[in-house]
Amino acid sequence: VVVGVRMWRHSSENMKWNGTGSTARFQEIILERCYKYTQSVQPELRGRDCQKIREAFRNAFISKDPCSATEEDYHPLMKLVNQMVPCDKTVFWSKSKELAHQYTKVQRDMFTLEDTLMGYIADDLNWCGVAGSYEMNYQSCPHWKEDCSNNFVSVFWDLVSKRFAENACGVVQVVLNGSISNAFDRKSTFGRVEVHNLNPMKVHTLQAWVIHDLGKSPSDSCSGSSINDLRQIIRQRNIKFTCQDNYSSGKFLQCVKKPGDSSCR
Ligand code: NAD
Repeated sequence: VVVGVRMWRHSSENMKWNGTGSTARFQEIILERCYKYTQSVQPELRGRDCQKIREAFRNAFISKDPCSATEEDYHPLMKLVNQMVPCDKTVFWSKSKELAHQYTKVQRDMFTLEDTLMGYIADDLNWCGVAGSYEMNYQSCPHWKEDCSNNFVSVFWDLVSKRFAENACGVVQVVLNGSISNAFDRKSTFGRVEVHNLNPMKVHTLQAWVIHDLGKSPSDSCSGSSINDLRQIIRQRNIKFTCQDNYSSGKFLQCVKKPGDSSCR
């Protein structure tokens, strides 16, 4: 009997996953970010109840098996956060997060997912619980490739990315990284989730900008095969596709950060 109890304690409390553990102060960060967003970033969302949002976020995963997440777990949270982005203002990105965020920081009326309340709250955080316990696991969480794809972080990003794409309308943009060999990757969240959830009744054009890092030679471009892949998928979905290499606004942002670079003169 004693041995049995020990084994149980071992497996439930010291479960070692291959991914990073929950972010320290997760609950406080959620609350702080929610207040900051609703009070100063987008005061139109002033009415949102941040305490309730924190509670719904926590309830989505606490005490559940960290490898059994479903979309339904997040439905109560989604209901509380629900936010529309104006037409023509949606910006997707893939392997180009920093540049996309620099762009929306300057172009204040444009939104990446992380400029919406839900993305803003969760960006760069990690979270998981322990089955049958009210604690969070700060030691380790399931790694999406090595442990399970239905972990709470992956299911969350797939769900919020899907909703973000479904809600987009008008002309939408995507910032892609031309310094890697596959600027468009079918297996990325953009390629796997967002592209397939654009609604052709609402979105008439997808504008891609393929931007390569200053000082690096470009590895992919609008005429490359990965972008061609994207062009085909989008056209088959009856959405117009345009593409620009090194779109000047993107170049400009890079040059503000690195004015000495030879390509900025
Ligand atoms: P990407 O490959 O640059 O990945 C973005 C981030 O998500 C990386 O940190 C990556 O490690 C992580 N990620 C990707 N798939 C994951 C998964 N299944 N489980 C856990 N983490 C995963 O670009 P992407 O995959 O095309 O995603 C970017 C697009 O999707 C954006 O348009 C954005 O709207 C949305 N998104 C944002 C985040 C985020 O962390 N803010 C994460 C996923 C998706």
